[in-house]
Parts: sequence; structure tokens; C-alpha cells
Amino acid sequence: MGSGIYLGRRRGTRLYVDWSCVLVWLLAVWHLAVVMLPWWNPSWGRVLTWALAVAGGLGLLVSVLVHEAAHARVARANGVPTQELILYPFGGVTDTLREPRSPVVEFLVAASGPLANVALGLVCLLFSQASAAVFGSAAGSPYGVVGRMHPVPALALWLGSVNLFLGAVNLLPAFPLDGGRILRASYWAGTGNLRMATRWASVLGQALGWLSVLVGLMLVFGGRLPLLGTGVVNGLWLLVGGWFVAEAARRSLQSVRLRDLLRDVPVARLMRPAPPTAQANISIRSLVLDRVMTADEEAFPVLDGGRLVGIVTVDDARRVPRYRWESATVREVMTGLDRLAVTLRDADAATALEKMTAAGVGQLPVVQDGSLVGMLRHRDLIEWLEARDAC
Ligand SMILES: [Zn+2]
Repeated sequence: MGSGIYLGRRRGTRLYVDWSCVLVWLLAVWHLAVVMLPWWNPSWGRVLTWALAVAGGLGLLVSVLVHEAAHARVARANGVPTQELILYPFGGVTDTLREPRSPVVEFLVAASGPLANVALGLVCLLFSQASAAVFGSAAGSPYGVVGRMHPVPALALWLGSVNLFLGAVNLLPAFPLDGGRILRASYWAGTGNLRMATRWASVLGQALGWLSVLVGLMLVFGGRLPLLGTGVVNGLWLLVGGWFVAEAARRSLQSVRLRDLLRDVPVARLMRPAPPTAQANISIRSLVLDRVMTADEEAFPVLDGGRLVGIVTVDDARRVPRYRWESATVREVMTGLDRLAVTLRDADAATALEKMTAAGVGQLPVVQDGSLVGMLRHRDLIEWLEARDAC
């Protein structure tokens, strides 16, 4: 299950671009076309300026892709397959919920992304140098160093700097950025305690994220800082990026806590026994009227006689057009047993939660000796956690 725009599949990895990437890409193209390029050389004209801005934006997308591809390649080489890769504007935070295998692998995987950006950045800078020698520069031009250049080496210079910047930003010790993962791997290698390492890295990630939001707000309201400069655009970059990191760090901290608390709790204690079910041969209409409308459930285990054969969700029913509600059966739209994630009564709830996260579902049917004995829902886990906190 993925979110965002599906790009395609490569070596078993489904590739998505998160919607926030589109926003950041538009912001980057706009920033190039309206602020940067006219400042370099206002005589380049409107068409050339926008063409360069779009090319720069595409270069930025390729840079993020190269960064993530490096992570995926090193991960695969170390036996950690990536099933799904979602591109975020400031690097990938897709794998925070999965337990990494060893500190060394985690370190190598984390370091590969920023290193790929540094390498790409150096290649761009070298290309800029070489092409500047070929195209020559307009001597005696009134513009700055970049503005005197031909547009091609100028854009390469920009993309090179952006890649070095991307590499540097991702190396900041703010979990779940790569630098934070490197820090966590080091702490983990030193203490042997992954949970403690994740906890501290997430706390630091949240602190640095909120600091970035604060500094961004200062810049937006006219503050000026050494190195970061001033202005609404710089401020917005810091604000959005900081919020993104803080939020991701909060989520990973929450999931560590939840996993810690659920480790010794058996599924049987948190599951809902005797959940409402649906027979495989009933129509979608009767599923909606007799099940969805009367029970406060998002999903129903599907039985054929007494045997569990799948699960059907409210979303599955919603995808069936109204005129087929009478003729279509639950069996036609359900997720069958072959693709169904289930858990055992005696499994621990932390493992079940990981299974739920990996499958991208909100509940797991609980089985014992092949028959359904209950349902474990994500919201029950959250409610249990909140009730615990209230005591
Ligand atoms: Zn990364």
C-alpha cells in the first residue's frame, strides 16, 4: 500500500513520490525563476529563465532520486530488500518503522544517500568548470561571477551546490534524517541497545526540527542570521523542513514506545473476541446494510461456512458501483487468504503491530488452529496505550 504518485517498479521496489515533493518542486522552480536567475543575470529573458528553472527543478528531482537509489542499492547489497520507496523532499523516512538489522548495515545504508549527493555535486561542479571553459564567459559584463557564465555551466554550478547542500542537510544529526540514523547506529554499536538509541536520536531529531521551525519563523518575520540570511523564502524552507523532521521524529518515538509497551503483551489480551463477520456469498448490499451500518467496524473477516477465507473492508465495498451492489458478492471484492496478514492468539502484540505496519492495514484477524478467534485492531492498541497513560 502506498501514498502519493506511483512512478513504477524496479527490481521489486515500488517507487512513489509523496505529494509534498510536488509542492517543494514547484517552490524550487518558482524560487529559481523569480528570485535566483533574474538576480544572476536579468538579461536572460523570460523564456530562457523559465526553461532553466524547470531544468533546475528536474535536476533537483534526479538528485533526490539518486540519493534514495543509493540507500536502496546498499540496503539490497546487505540483504535488506526495499519493498516500497516513497520519495520525500528532504530524504526518505519510509523505513523508520522497520527494525534495522545491525548497526554496521544501518550505518552504511544511512551514509550512502548523502555520499551519493556529495559525489553528484562534485561531478556537477567539475562539469560546470569544464563547460565554462568551452562556452567562455562574457568579459566586461556587469553581472556577477555566475551571471557572466553561459547558462549551462551556471545551472550546473547551481545543481552542484544544491547537491552538496542536500548531502550536508541530510547529515544533520536530526533523526530520522540520515545523520540522525548514523548517530543512532553509533550509539547502538556502543551500547547494544537499539531502543535507547532510537529514543535519544528521536528526541534530538524533534528538538532540532522545532529549532529549525523557530528560526524559519524568525526569518519570515524579518530576522537576519549569519549563514542563513533572511527573507520569506529561506524562512519557509527552514519552517517546512523543520516541521517535517520534528513530525517524523515524533512518530518514530511513538512507535518505539508502543513497541516497548506491547512487547510482553499477548495478542489474546488486546484482541476483540467474536468480532462481527460476513459470509463470502452475501451481496455487497447486504454487507453494507446488515454489517457496515450496524457495527462500528472498518473491516470484517469473511467466512465460508465456518472457515476464514479473507477480509472485506468498507473501502472494498465503496469501490463497487451502486448498480452492482445486488449482484456482486463479498467474495469478489475481499482480500483473499493468500494475501491476508493474520496473527496468532499467543503472538506478542509488538510483532503483530509490526506486521500491521508492514502490510499497511488497520487490523489483523487472529487465528488459532486455522479458525478465526478474534480481531486485533490498530485503534484498540492506541486506546490501550492511552488508557495506560491515564492511570
Ligand atoms: Zn537519505
